[in-house]
Order: sequence, then C-alpha cells, then structure tokens
Amino acid sequence: MSDLIPALADLRALQPAQQPQYEDAQAVETVLAQLRRLPPLVFAGECDDLKSRIAAAAAGRAFILQGGDCAETFDAVTASSIRGRLRVLLSMSVVMTYAAEVPVIKIGRMAGQFAKPRSQDIEVRHQVGLPAYRGDAINGFEFTAEARRHDPARLLRVYNASAATLNLVRAFTKGGFADLRSMHSWNADFVREAHVSARYEQLTREIDRALAFMVAIGVDGGEAFRTVDFYASHEALIIDYEHALTRIDSRTGAPYNVGGHLLWIGERTRQLDGAHVELLRHLRNPVAVKIGPTARPDQVLALADALDPDHEPGRLTIISRMGAAQIGRALKPIVTAVEATGRKVCWSCDPMHGNTFESATGYKTRSFEDVTAELDGFFDVHAELGTWPGGVHIELTGDDVTECVGGVVDVSEADLAHRYETLCDPRLNRQQSLELAFRVAERLGQLDRATDFTPLDF
Ligand code: PEP
Ligand code: MN
Repeated sequence: MSDLIPALADLRALQPAQQPQYEDAQAVETVLAQLRRLPPLVFAGECDDLKSRIAAAAAGRAFILQGGDCAETFDAVTASSIRGRLRVLLSMSVVMTYAAEVPVIKIGRMAGQFAKPRSQDIEVRHQVGLPAYRGDAINGFEFTAEARRHDPARLLRVYNASAATLNLVRAFTKGGFADLRSMHSWNADFVREAHVSARYEQLTREIDRALAFMVAIGVDGGEAFRTVDFYASHEALIIDYEHALTRIDSRTGAPYNVGGHLLWIGERTRQLDGAHVELLRHLRNPVAVKIGPTARPDQVLALADALDPDHEPGRLTIISRMGAAQIGRALKPIVTAVEATGRKVCWSCDPMHGNTFESATGYKTRSFEDVTAELDGFFDVHAELGTWPGGVHIELTGDDVTECVGGVVDVSEADLAHRYETLCDPRLNRQQSLELAFRVAERLGQLDRATDFTPLDF
C-alpha cells in the first residue's frame, strides 16, 4: 500500500479507543483481505463535490442537513426503512430550502453507520454482565454470550449492507422518487398531527405554484426538479474497517476512504495523537469532528491544524454537541478561537448527544424542547459572533416511533413504551423531525444571507 496511507500496524500501535476485541486474529486478517479487494462504495470525485458544497456552507452560502439513525441495523436494510429515512430527510430539506431560501446539502447518517462507541464495556442485566452492544458491525443486540461476542465476519456484512443501502438511495434520488413535484405524496400517509401537517401541506402547495409558474414562463427545471444529490456519512470508528476501505484514487493518486463520502470522528475518539485522527488526516474526503462541552479552544485548534493543515475550503466540519444547558457557555470561545486563525470551517450543531437522559420509566430519551433549545443556543452564538451556522446533525427515523419526548405531538414519558425501537440512542420521529426543520428554517430565515445562488447550489 502507498506510503500516503498509514500502515494498519502503526494505527493499531496507537491503541485506538473503542475497538472490537476479537478472539481470532487470523480470522480478522482474512476478512480485511476480502474487504480490501471489494469495489469502492463511493467515488472520489463525489467526495470532492461534497467538499466543494461544504465549502459553500462554511462560507455562509449553504446549510448542511445531516441525519439518520444513531445505529443502522442489518435488519433495517429494507426498502421501507431506507425509503422512510430518505423521505423524512428530503421533506426536511425542502422545508429548509424553501422557507429559508438557502441551498441545503443532504447527507445521510446512512450506508455505513453500523458501529457504536460505548461508555461502558460491560452491560449488566439481573446481575449478569456481558460485553456491551457495539452496533451490528461488531456484535449482536441479543443479551447472550454468543450474540455479544465480537465477530469480524460482521465487517463484511457492513460492507454489503452499506452497498445495498447506497444502491437504493441512489435509485430513489436519481430515479424520480425525489421529484419535487411529488413531494405531497412523501408524507401523504402520515399527516395526522394538525399543526405540522397543515404547515407542510401549505408549503407543498406553494412550491407547486412556484414550479408551475417557472414552467409557465419557460424555465425548465429539468434535472433540478427531478433528482437530488444525496451523500452518505458515518462515524469512522473501527480502524480496521476504515483502513481497508481507504484506497488510492487513480485520477489523483491521493488517498480517499471509499466507504462513505464524509466521515467523522466521535467525541470519544478525537484524541489528537490517536489512531482516528491519524487515519483521517491522511484522507482527501471531507471530514468532521464532534466536540462536547469539555472541549477546550486550544484542543479544537490543534484538531483543526491536524485535520486541515492547509485550510482547505470544505475540508473540515466541526459538529458541536454541548447540551442545551452548556451551549451558551461552551461554544462561543471555541468559535472565537477558530475564527481568529482565519480558517473557514463549517460549524454544525448536533442537538441530540448532549441532551440524553433517563426517563422516570427507565428509557434513555431526549426532550424535543432541549433539542430545540440547543439549536437556538447555536444560532444565538453565531448571531452574536457574526459567524454562519452551517448545519445540523440529527438522529432521526422515518417511523412514528416514541423515543424522544415532547414536540407538538407531545410524546409523554408514559408514551415512550408504545414504540421504543432504537437499539442505541433515541431518535426524533417523522413529526418531530419536520417540526425541527421548520424551526431551523425560521432561524435561518432571520439571517442575512447570500441571494446569488446558482441552480447547482441546490
Ligand atoms: C453518535 O453520533 O452517535 C455519537 C456517539 O456521538 P458523539 O461522538 O458526539 O457522542
Ligand atoms: Mn447516537
């Protein structure tokens, strides 16, 4: 392999955190050899396209909507689950684009988001301790010793599940499903809650009228009406897997991770001298890093220098996940310090991961009110500093689950039991996601923003 890509042995020697512990080292090498031969899931040129779009978001000319499951599962690699997630993301994006008049970059937490960092290595139930569930990439959810064993063969299933997901996503987004003129039908089966649905219906009527007007005056929207560009992203967690999917691009001779367009480093694995930063700093993909309330400005500056030494437009997105109570205090000094260096990063807000708590009924949940409060705090900080809020990062699903409390649908703590399906973190359901999109659109709409977009920006 090229010396442009760090050797796997060197990355392993850095003792990366949150890695699977396999019993059979030979079986791991066999799996990795197979993965290295498999074709890319994404093309380097697509990663470059995404990078130039993110550069627009960093420069205040676009906004990123990144969302999907906390943890994808092999069981949910079905047409209806994938369509459901895509539909809610597309609906949110149309709401945000139309209501705020800003191009929205659509990135799924999809087609690769199968591995999870965990706070505890061991899960205890009724005095029995077993290895924690670390996502389908590593072990099974069932609480048995056999299911919880770390199995390297699962990495091949991750590749296949990602390929199948991405294939359907590409078919849906290029083959007519995403046609703006059919956006009524995306949510026709769910609009039950009067407040959100009436707003959505009104918006689709306005868009229909605007499209009809454009056609009447001779503007042919063509592909722009019919297709959307949609990108795949996941947390680059398992060093073995991410390394096997890192390849030299034949056009440019540069290394790209071809398992997803954008990769991010999580809050638990962002050590400056750690393996995750070491691998990702070599890639030419756009990359992101999550930062929590304990991140200090000097640490974020050092991460930015490591991951984006050349100040390359669109290269680095910083995703803050501070918690509603902390964002007002924690984000401002970081944005101030990074902006003072003159570099342009894209600032994105993950209003989910700092707002998790356990309900009185024993469910890991989040409150919609905390989520929107963190978003408001994010917009407030950027308004105060005169910097551009460049995106949101959301855990959501296309199903009508009851995992997060609140919202206009007002899921109560008692309701959580009805449809609590996540194997990991609680996700916004469809109604809550759309409500959030309207909220983001409102805040974006209040900002001074560029007006000279070109059709390609959308
Ligand atoms: C996640 O995105 O699911 C996650 C674990 O986030 P963080 O690294 O911010 O805690
Ligand atoms: Mn999560």
